[in-house]
Amino acid sequence: MAEASALVLFSGGQDSATCLAWALDRFSRVETIGFDYGQRHIVELQCRDALRKGMAALKPLWAERLGEDHSLPLAALGAISDTAMTREVEITFGVEGLPNTFVPGRNLIFLTFAAALAYRRGIRHIVTGVCETDYSGYPDCRDDTMKALQVALNLGMDRRFVVETPLMWRDKAATWALAEELGGEPLVSLILEASHTCYLGARDKRHAWGYGCGQCPACELRANGFVRYQEVRQR
Ligand code: ZN
Repeated sequence: MAEASALVLFSGGQDSATCLAWALDRFSRVETIGFDYGQRHIVELQCRDALRKGMAALKPLWAERLGEDHSLPLAALGAISDTAMTREVEITFGVEGLPNTFVPGRNLIFLTFAAALAYRRGIRHIVTGVCETDYSGYPDCRDDTMKALQVALNLGMDRRFVVETPLMWRDKAATWALAEELGGEPLVSLILEASHTCYLGARDKRHAWGYGCGQCPACELRANGFVRYQEVRQR
């Protein structure tokens, strides 16, 4: 098992794009995995290719390190979730404070599939953009959840996987700052232009912070984070 290899859970959003750059910066072989589970909008998945190509074009070393992309169909996840993510339903917030876009345990499922693939590919590090700092109440994004899952995967697959969560304690502004640190202005521009975060899949309007409806919780989080990032930069 290659010590310096990583598999990045890569949806094409801002967070996973930043994670891909983070991984390209430190591992000698980096592969990506995306999941298709019948999302209303496959826009995010279509952004993946543009981001991968864009990053490979930024630095020759990154081009050398960037390996295969894997796409796994997980239609079963869509079939069992009654959420706004998989049906044409308006995004609302339940009594427990979770948006109805929440697919219960989604990250547990993603990481388990990623680990099975990593096992097959001889990859040790599994990188995910989960974040506890401005998380929308998703319990499967918590640091403790990730640590427990790492233990479960290592016991259940008899491996020494490391679940890497570079964004766990960063808010969205700090995530933009990390992108700048890793790839300068060109990487920030690439992520602005090619990544997708909007729950509604809107890409018709370009804002300072990228494309999106500008109204949904994901757009709000992204827009606010970008404003704070620019404020900090100007000081
Ligand atoms: Zn939106």
